[in-house]
Amino acid sequence: MKYISTRGAGEPVSAAEAILTGLAPDGGLYVPESFPEPLSGADFAALSALSYPERAARIMRLFLDDFSEEELLSYAKSAYSDEKFDSSPAPLVRVGGRRYLELFHGPTSAFKDMALQMLPYLLSASLQKRGQREDALILVATSGDTGKAALEGFKDVPRTNVLVFYPKDGVSDIQKLQMTTQEGENVAVSAVSGNFDDTQNGVKELFSSEEMRRELASLGLRFSSANSINWGRVLPQIVYYVSAYCDLGNETGTLPERINFCVPTGNFGNILAAYYAKQLGVPVHKLLCASNANRVLTEFIRTGRYNRKREFHLTISPSMDILISSNLERLLFELVGRDADRVSAYMRRLRETGEYTVDEAVKTRLTDLFYGDFCDDNETKATIATVFKEDAYLLDPHTAVAVNVCDAYLAETGDETPAVVVATASPFKFCESVLAAIGAPLQSGGFELISDLSRVSGLTPPAPILALAGKPERFSAVFERDEMGKSTLLFAKDRAKHR
Ligand SMILES: *Cc1c(COP(=O)(O)O)cnc(C)c1O
Repeated sequence: MKYISTRGAGEPVSAAEAILTGLAPDGGLYVPESFPEPLSGADFAALSALSYPERAARIMRLFLDDFSEEELLSYAKSAYSDEKFDSSPAPLVRVGGRRYLELFHGPTSAFKDMALQMLPYLLSASLQKRGQREDALILVATSGDTGKAALEGFKDVPRTNVLVFYPKDGVSDIQKLQMTTQEGENVAVSAVSGNFDDTQNGVKELFSSEEMRRELASLGLRFSSANSINWGRVLPQIVYYVSAYCDLGNETGTLPERINFCVPTGNFGNILAAYYAKQLGVPVHKLLCASNANRVLTEFIRTGRYNRKREFHLTISPSMDILISSNLERLLFELVGRDADRVSAYMRRLRETGEYTVDEAVKTRLTDLFYGDFCDDNETKATIATVFKEDAYLLDPHTAVAVNVCDAYLAETGDETPAVVVATASPFKFCESVLAAIGAPLQSGGFELISDLSRVSGLTPPAPILALAGKPERFSAVFERDEMGKSTLLFAKDRAKHR
């Protein structure tokens, strides 16, 4: 199966090429040239009997014909092993009246692990398959969780190097510590003065700089991306939606006729994977797109107008503090009937004027499937408090946004379709906000917050978060937005010495 750009330029490329390149040369995102046939009832029944790695191999194989199922199975078994995950990788749990798809049992305690434990295998194999001589230099812009997950996934993976940029004041203390104490020879981390959108735009500019590409080539390196625009990130995420549907069937005895997912959303990568799972035959009735105070997507879904010209809010769900949701472009591509010219025009308008509006037909297609809502920090905290009190289940702030929106949707519609809230992070990544939410007095800071939250909640923190205590800080540099290129070259030159 070949991959094409949402903006239409260039020849179709192989999956390996799409994964290595990340962003298409015309600035668009790679999507499959055509979709696999939807899975049948028998297919779902067969998948239901399989383990998570087996499900992953079978589903990913549908999109990757330059990889064999055996190859993919060996990757999946390593990526989702018991050493990496402290439970099954994506358990569907039922607590109180709600169902959660828990995606935070990996090494960095956020859902990004689901894709970033797999991507290094796909990317290394792609280097091999294309006979590429240059090593990969992976640039990552992170709103907090991607950075750590990428560092952890790629650390000491041969022929890969990772440089992470994060917005200096845009991540939680624990997220920052996770990144600045990262181990591994082939990794580096830089703080940037600016917000996530600045950081992401900076990385996009570096990717498209001819001069930078030439410099890297002379050092034997080539850019690659681990951001959620990379097809190799989206694909492993489709798996857990199919898997959750199978698990719900296993739990209730029959595969349900419909299912809803409520997804806390930032860059639109996670919820896009749910949309693709629907294309693949999972009978998704509604996708609930949950936002924080940066509610650009809520308004887009409700009005058809995407408008990023607004105040940027730093919230207690920092991984969703985003005004330009890059992966929305892939959804738009499908909603306009794969008309790349129209997608290009929307994206040009967004770049030049900060907004675009889709026509009525597109808006209808959008609202047929998507429901959008948001909640602010106070409502997020209140949700954490209520769910903790009523169900003794501790939500992280991102998941709490989704619970709040899911409840609002149910109150508004009375929809009886089984609803699954996608739980994207461990509360221990966001101790300070979670402690404040459940009304515990803040007596300490830093690492002590972890033991405070553990004591107050009676829960054991994830082992890798506990292990942060006592790790030396390795990366403390802060760069201005226009110094990101300089930082990249410093790292590239240093890594080139070690080739
Ligand atoms: C990244 C992230 C999100 C948002 O996911 P997108 O794919 O960017 O929409 C939500 N919650 C957590 C904890 C995250 O790390």
